[in-house]
Amino acid sequence: MSAAGTGVRPQDAAPLLEVRDLVVHHGQLRALSGISLRVYPGEVYAIIGANGAGKSTLLRTIAGLHTPTEGSIVYDSRDVTGMRPEKRAAAGMTMVPEGRRLFPSLTLEENLKVGATYARKGPWNIERVYDLFPWMRERRGQQTAQLSGGEQSSAAIGRALVANPRMLLLDELSLGLAPVIVQRIYGMLPEILASGVTVLLVEQDVSQALRVATHLQCLLEGRTTLEGRPADVTAQQVEAAYFGMGSAGPGGSVSPGGRPPVPPREGSAPPTPPQDGSAPPIPPQGSDG
Ligand code: ATP
Repeated sequence: MSAAGTGVRPQDAAPLLEVRDLVVHHGQLRALSGISLRVYPGEVYAIIGANGAGKSTLLRTIAGLHTPTEGSIVYDSRDVTGMRPEKRAAAGMTMVPEGRRLFPSLTLEENLKVGATYARKGPWNIERVYDLFPWMRERRGQQTAQLSGGEQSSAAIGRALVANPRMLLLDELSLGLAPVIVQRIYGMLPEILASGVTVLLVEQDVSQALRVATHLQCLLEGRTTLEGRPADVTAQQVEAAYFGMGSAGPGGSVSPGGRPPVPPREGSAPPTPPQDGSAPPIPPQGSDG
């Protein structure tokens, strides 16, 4: 799918998720410094950045797995900053963690049943996941350890969907997968969005993120260096934000040196195509898909 650039942010609507000035430490290490973002219903909001930029820390903090030192997280108009992760999950925040974290000795269907254990009411159930990924029906009895990397990622998405999330948090789906497999998996997003789910994802694979995102935020060393709609940012801006080269141009909002992010705005800048047609940086790593 190519949602990039088509999303007009419904700023008259309340954001489903608002993160304000988040600071997170891992011991002495300041992993996030003043991160803010707003995710509106129906968006695919992509957080990009290199290794160690703080993407997973951000996603895990939103899910309640790390406690911020400063800042707040408002979800569905409620301050959830101090809320336990399982309560956030019960409120419809469901994470597909990096590395998938399936139960390898359980079958595919058993893993899906685990996801459904505390399911909210909603359109998703195991049968609908099988409709989304038809190959699963025949292989429902197979241990997930025997599935390929791409199949395991799909299984992890299915396990999250049967919980009937309002907001799906996807952590580095592309990690270790061949590009064609990654594209196939992200190809499921339109159907997931059509069911009313909002998506916040973390990606190191910039090309993939640009392909699917309606909104984009780049982190570098725990700070926001770029934020905007994919259609409004150039390849050079993305590259500068990703690698910290600090150049800015027309289109999106680059914050050289990690200044605070520019607040989300609605289509204020005209779409700016890449100036040299070059592809965004960073292909995905390795492949086991
Ligand atoms: P990657 O793509 O490699 O997962 P990332 O952008 O998701 O990178 P994080 O995993 O959030 O980055 O890491 C941000 C920083 O925090 C890194 O310096 C990392 O080493 C450190 N870090 C992450 N988790 C922990 C932890 N549990 N304890 C200590 N330091 C951590």
